[in-house]
Amino acid sequence: MKLDPKLLRYLTSDDFRVLTAAEMGTRNHEVVPTSLIASIAQLRQAGIHKVISTLAKNNLIARVQNSKYDGYRLTYGGYDYLALKTLSKRGSVYSVGNQIGVGKESDIYIVADEEGNQRVLKIQRLGRNSFRTIKSNRDYLRHRQTGSWLYMSRLAAMKEFAFMKVLYENGFPVPEPIDQSRHCVVMGLIDAYPLCQIRDIEDPGALYSKLMDLIVRLACSGLIHGDFNEFNLLIRNDDEPVLIDFPQMVSTSHRNAEMYFNRDVECIRTFFRRRFGYESKLYPRFHRDTQREFSLDVQVSASGFTRKNQEELEQYQELVATMDAEASEDDSDYDEDGSDGRDSGSAAKIAAGDESESKEHGVAPSLSGDMARDLSVE
Ligand code: ADP
Ligand code: MG
Repeated sequence: MKLDPKLLRYLTSDDFRVLTAAEMGTRNHEVVPTSLIASIAQLRQAGIHKVISTLAKNNLIARVQNSKYDGYRLTYGGYDYLALKTLSKRGSVYSVGNQIGVGKESDIYIVADEEGNQRVLKIQRLGRNSFRTIKSNRDYLRHRQTGSWLYMSRLAAMKEFAFMKVLYENGFPVPEPIDQSRHCVVMGLIDAYPLCQIRDIEDPGALYSKLMDLIVRLACSGLIHGDFNEFNLLIRNDDEPVLIDFPQMVSTSHRNAEMYFNRDVECIRTFFRRRFGYESKLYPRFHRDTQREFSLDVQVSASGFTRKNQEELEQYQELVATMDAEASEDDSDYDEDGSDGRDSGSAAKIAAGDESESKEHGVAPSLSGDMARDLSVE
């Protein structure tokens, strides 16, 4: 699914009205009946059909015929459109540049505001892979419809933004959280390489200590990253790490906190051993090394991302993790980047073409003039 920002310039206000009506109808209907879309949009029946067919032609909504009635569902394309429209209205995103990452369930783009300041847009695409990898009788996922995938993606973006904000405000090395709408987060662009791309390093011991300190500092604040690996750590020129990717963070009060904590620690130990031949007897342990000093986990739940939201998202994430484990039983190859397969799916790859450019010039891939698309509508 490709992000298509040029639509923002071509759609009319009636198109937007009808798309918004489809989004509202999606709250209570898997498939939104045409009559409901018409009544929410308050357009005359005659006009609505033309608008609906334009939206459907552009893949912003999709026709669904089911046994009870016919109607439409909002697609990821339509959801992207609505989010981009909101973000551009608020001035957070003015133009969209290159895609720099494709995660298992997310797409990452470079964007810019009106002054040309570069930022990162992360779009959640939950369900994108589950459709394919689904096995056996996982009814919960198989029977989920698009409406709930969009909802899950929105929860993931809300969670990411809430955690990034609390971490940023408390001095943790994370990107600046700029804005969030629906399944999209806008954040500061970090000029750095993911740890997975770093082959030579002057002092692996020093970086290793920084990363372990970061894990401990998080835990002393009540938080565990939960996916603390070479793909989610960006290393700046001055060797300082920046942590990204927060939809799976958990509180140190979580029932499996110790397991998540140890897994984060193990991930770093394994990576340093395989990549740099570096091993240390010193590594943190959950009960011994983490005394709670702050409760950022509590701050996050006060931020609007509720406990109920958290539980809904977690139920989904646990199922996906189980499915990943099943899938990697079939495919236990150790890949070139040193990943053990556990996260190889979510390992975002720099899009072909950008990678060589960024390596050669030693900077993060940037918005190239001819690729930039003007989003301004009004
Ligand atoms: P996913 O959830 O798909 O793993 P991530 O948030 O980890 O997505 O981002 C995927 C990749 O995109 C990262 O490995 C990194 O290369 C790039 N990326 C993400 N956020 C930023 C950022 N703020 N600045 C620079 N690069 C980023
Ligand atoms: Mg990631």
